[in-house]
Amino acid sequence: MTRMTRKCPICGKPRSAEHTPFCSTRCKDRDLVRWLDDGYALPGPPALDEEEGKA
Ligand SMILES: [Zn+2]
Repeated sequence: MTRMTRKCPICGKPRSAEHTPFCSTRCKDRDLVRWLDDGYALPGPPALDEEEGKA
């Protein structure tokens, strides 16, 4: 168990100094897509909270 060993969070391969914290631009793009997917997957934006406070 070595904390010094840094891996690409996408595929688990050793990360590249050029593309840190990822191993390649491909994994970098995949991480971005994953975040966007999560955003779209959220069920209903909590935008009505302020309206409720006025009542
Ligand atoms: Zn990778």
